[in-house]
Amino acid sequence: MRVNQADYTIIPISEKALLEKIDKIARDCSRLNQYPMSLFKKHVEEIKREVETRLLDSTSATDPILRRQYYLFSWLSVWLLSDQVEKFALVEASTSSPMWSHLNIVIDDLVTRLGLSSKPLPFFGSSFYCTGSFAYTERGIPVSPFYQVSTESHESSLFWPLLAHEIAHLKLNETDDVQNLRRELSRENLRSEKYRERLDEALCDVVATLLYGPSYIAAFGTKFWQILDEYHDESYPSNQYRLFVMFKTMEEKNGQSIYSIKNTFEVNERLARREKISFLTDEMIELGQKLVRNPANVDDDKIIDFCNDPNKIDKGRLDYLFNALWLMIYQGTKTFDVATNIANSILERWTKRS
Ligand SMILES: [Zn+2]
Repeated sequence: MRVNQADYTIIPISEKALLEKIDKIARDCSRLNQYPMSLFKKHVEEIKREVETRLLDSTSATDPILRRQYYLFSWLSVWLLSDQVEKFALVEASTSSPMWSHLNIVIDDLVTRLGLSSKPLPFFGSSFYCTGSFAYTERGIPVSPFYQVSTESHESSLFWPLLAHEIAHLKLNETDDVQNLRRELSRENLRSEKYRERLDEALCDVVATLLYGPSYIAAFGTKFWQILDEYHDESYPSNQYRLFVMFKTMEEKNGQSIYSIKNTFEVNERLARREKISFLTDEMIELGQKLVRNPANVDDDKIIDFCNDPNKIDKGRLDYLFNALWLMIYQGTKTFDVATNIANSILERWTKRS
């Protein structure tokens, strides 16, 4: 049905309202001149230009359906941006925490080792997750890379290896290599979206394990092992499989640091292999190895040495720090609280200029 232009009289007012809203957001962000906060200002300016262009196209469009389409895209962009503004308020609030600079050490380490194109702005939120430009690109709105990543406020910094999984999601958005594996899924008739999501999740576990070694598995298992099966979500691989693929990624390194956690989180390979995407395990590990520039050094002698004196760990070597501390906890030489305090004091020292 062809719709009469008169039916759209509300649109110019709505367009004006959208323009005013995005203008207000941009004005609010104009004060953000310092890196890395300036990344958000740049992002907002880009969305603003995008919305203005679409709305200009919209007003000059004679086809009402096209005009409606332009409006919907603009509306969607502003809607997504509003959510990001909310998250950005958390980023700003997080900067007053003494842990903010510690958190940035982890983010910088991950950005470098994965060769990510833009530094995500981290914040203390409700759980581990990421948001950013991919929300636009997935909906067909072209936007340069910009990311925000949340860690759980009040959670020990020992769980920060879990950030590696989140940053891995961002890296997957920047690489085409994962397409080959998605095609493999289609060939096996696993075409539904949930399998694609499971593949991404398992790949992020592989990448995170390569980045932080057994400490990623320890952080993941400690946090989720007991609740995994109670809260299973279809868009994630089975929990047996997730642990299986993590240990498989570490297979060639079978020292004490792996052994101590392998004993705690028992994985049944037969059960794990029931996961539909498990036929891609080797390919996933291979792709992970391609994506991670400097995998964690899980040399047991060194890690055990650092357990005796964590202050000897070189500045910025988070792989050694997390692995030594989780090994101490799982071997029972340090309590969780004491290990957290050690982590925080070392991270604090690393933030100081030497
Ligand atoms: Zn994930």
